[in-house]
Amino acid sequence: MHDLIMRAARDLVQSRHAIALTGAGISTESGIPDFRGPDGIWTKNPEAERRAYEAYTKFINDPAGYWEETMNSGSVLGELGRYLPNPGHYALSELEKLGVLKCVVTQNVDNLHRKAGSINVLEYHGNAFKLRCLQCTSRYEEDNFDLQSQMPPLCLNCGEVLKYDVVYFGEPIPEDVALHSIDEAGKSDLMLICGTSAVVYPFANLPLIGRRNKAVIIEINAEPTPLTHNHISDYLIRGKTGAILPGILNEVKKLTAKE
Ligand code: NAD
Repeated sequence: MHDLIMRAARDLVQSRHAIALTGAGISTESGIPDFRGPDGIWTKNPEAERRAYEAYTKFINDPAGYWEETMNSGSVLGELGRYLPNPGHYALSELEKLGVLKCVVTQNVDNLHRKAGSINVLEYHGNAFKLRCLQCTSRYEEDNFDLQSQMPPLCLNCGEVLKYDVVYFGEPIPEDVALHSIDEAGKSDLMLICGTSAVVYPFANLPLIGRRNKAVIIEINAEPTPLTHNHISDYLIRGKTGAILPGILNEVKKLTAKE
């Protein structure tokens, strides 16, 4: 494993535009479960999965009813605000500060990359602490609204009913984020793919863009994924992101100190 960590560090230092793509796996060491693993949210609570599949249609057809249901049922990920970044998140933010990593495109809605200090973060599936207007794409911090008394919350720009920024099943990816992510994937010559099974589309198209452009694709995951099996990734560093990413960061620091 150490050889692969050194290889990843060398590849990163030689890259021109490295980006990270992350998924639920990078946050499991912070205590947030993934969806479909043995302790996954859907595995344990199929009713929550059914509601998640219906949430977008519910919002479109009956925004007030969506808010009533959402306020009564709460987030399937629980009180996300109490979770803290882990060494994997911090390692990515350090790599950005060193100028080695240019951007993180995450599927996670937990805000932990930003909490860890990453600046250039694209939240492909939204942010659980924000509300978004589907009409004019304005986004607001949830804290700016009193959701107990102002129901449903309305866009301050155009007056439409807001929904949570989180992208539900069947909901299009917000155009600004989708285009920016494609642009980053197109520019990248190295992708560090961390803790995602990369089976959720259209996010799963991003590694394919990298493959087409002959980017170096490095996976860090607890287990092989379809990216490994289909030879989309060049190599897999198998294990926990919370241990491997800090290991890569250490090697990058040694290499850049020598230069
Ligand atoms: P996934 O559950 O499909 O895959 C997670 C992958 O990470 C698995 O292959 C698993 O083996 C691996 N993994 C788990 N812990 C790991 C660790 N410590 N180190 C390395 N690998 C680890 O997740 P996904 O690909 O992100 O897709 C699920 C969807 O669910 C995404 O759209 C995501 O937005 C959403 N989701 C988000 C959160 C969050 O915000 N934290 C949590 C659950 C689900």
